Amino acid sequence: MDENKPSRNEDEYFVKLDADLIKSQRATLDAERRKAERASHYMRCPKCGAQLTETEFHHIKIDKCSECGGMWFDGGEIRMLEHLDQSNLRAFVRSMFGLKW
Ligand SMILES: [Zn+2]
Repeated sequence: MDENKPSRNEDEYFVKLDADLIKSQRATLDAERRKAERASHYMRCPKCGAQLTETEFHHIKIDKCSECGGMWFDGGEIRMLEHLDQSNLRAFVRSMFGLKW
């Protein structure tokens, strides 16, 4: 047997090692892309892509788009409206939506 020629088992070992390395690098690249994708969307309007700015009224926070005027509540935030009394609720709607009643 030629000692310089790798055995079939060695070939298989290195092929598997390469495949594992590629798989691992692929996972790292995918994770980095997902992270960058999320970072680029953070506090961006899902409709027009402009910057959202947080505004607060009676401890209720809304993310408002600086371009199209769209508004977003964080999860659970809208439920806090239940705790506003009638006059504060009207004031909240007037303030947030720019309505005149
Ligand atoms: Zn927008």
